[in-house]
Amino acid sequence: MSDFDVVVVGGRVAGASTALLLARAGMSVALVDRGSYGSDTLSTHGLMRAGVLQLTRWGLLPSLVAAGTPAIRRTAFHYADGETVEVTLRPTAGVEALYAPRRLLLDRILVDAAAAAGAEVRHETTVTSLLCEGDRVVGVRARDEQGRARTIRAAVTVGADGVRSTIAARVGSPVVWRARSAGAVLYRYYAELPTIGYEWAYGAGVAAGLIPTNDGLTCVFVGTAPTRMRDLRRQGVAEAFATILGESFPALPARVASAVPAGRMQGWPAVPGFLRRCYGPGWALVGDAGYYKDPITTHGISDGLRDAELLADAIMAALGGGVSEPVAMASYQSARDRMSARLFSATEAVAAYDWDTDQARTLLRRVSAAMAYELELLPGFVRGPALVGAGGAPRS
Ligand SMILES: Cc1cc2nc3c(=O)[nH]c(=O)nc-3n(C[C@H](O)[C@H](O)[C@H](O)COP(=O)(O)OP(=O)(O)OC[C@H]3O[C@@H](n4cnc5c(N)ncnc54)[C@H](O)[C@@H]3O)c2cc1C
Repeated sequence: MSDFDVVVVGGRVAGASTALLLARAGMSVALVDRGSYGSDTLSTHGLMRAGVLQLTRWGLLPSLVAAGTPAIRRTAFHYADGETVEVTLRPTAGVEALYAPRRLLLDRILVDAAAAAGAEVRHETTVTSLLCEGDRVVGVRARDEQGRARTIRAAVTVGADGVRSTIAARVGSPVVWRARSAGAVLYRYYAELPTIGYEWAYGAGVAAGLIPTNDGLTCVFVGTAPTRMRDLRRQGVAEAFATILGESFPALPARVASAVPAGRMQGWPAVPGFLRRCYGPGWALVGDAGYYKDPITTHGISDGLRDAELLADAIMAALGGGVSEPVAMASYQSARDRMSARLFSATEAVAAYDWDTDQARTLLRRVSAAMAYELELLPGFVRGPALVGAGGAPRS
């Protein structure tokens, strides 16, 4: 006998959204995370159109806006040869502006919405292993904040536990596509750094970005190949940051130098992207746990929000919709893969940092086309429990 219909391990963008959608559909859901409620995480947080679309559809965008998250209506693409191209966001698919909420705000809004919908939320609870019956996963073993052992039995166990997923490791989910490249990133917040909107900058083998966010802050990041980053960091992290910024677009260092740093520099080592098999008997993976790509295309959060709904629909179809679990989950995986393939491949190419400024322009067109393709498919895939037909293929 299960304690819950679903236990979700990992309570951030992918996990909290999955829990929210399932709880809203009337399922009993436990959401556990080893971190503390409302904590930050290592990530910049530019949302793309698909992510904003999801938050709008779930009725959560007003909370983000009310918390002072600035609307972003323009994007500037700077190139090291001096060119700047400004693009105004065209309102389509019900998205009139982009947003880049701090994770301590976005993740908390999602967790609160999941709890309000009836999910039982437990922070500071670490999942250590799986409960299994034969080859079927039937829940998790965990340790709570006092170190007490807990077992949570559920019909479905969801691993939304990020790039180093315990659930993926325990079920032995195979990687079906691994990226050949990955970039190293540094980022830091600044006050008094006005921006055009999103600003992205590209020089030979280097990139940078300015992301306006809450509390009047701007997140500034730089990225390059890991070997280059290692070399530059020998001179110091601040020097590496300034060098990459200047190589990305010569006007950026002076702008950033005149701003006020807020918080310390954060670093992310190069982790190659992967796409894993994302389901098996009694388990599924969502978000970075099953599909991770280099942060340079700033799309992981948007994809996590997208896949939460694809998975929630598949679980609803399997647990109450008269569709067999393997069929429902296979549909989830094929929808995820179809919508992800182009961007995954374009991101891998950008993350190689083996391009010059002209090649960067071409790559960015590829990234943009991949995002447009995803946005074209998204409303067709994401539309409630009818997603998964008995034939197994998502209708589009
Ligand atoms: C440097 C950097 C910059 C980025 N910038 C952007 C950006 O600008 N825009 C964008 O869209 N994406 C960006 N991303 C990607 C984005 O951060 C991820 O795609 C997103 O966080 C994935 O969300 P998730 O819910 O799948 O996993 P996570 O956010 O990683 O959450 C996983 C959760 O699982 C919990 N957990 C892990 N193990 C256990 C366990 N055993 N038991 C219980 N809980 C557990 C963790 O505590 C964590 O809270 C960036 C990533 C990095 C690294």
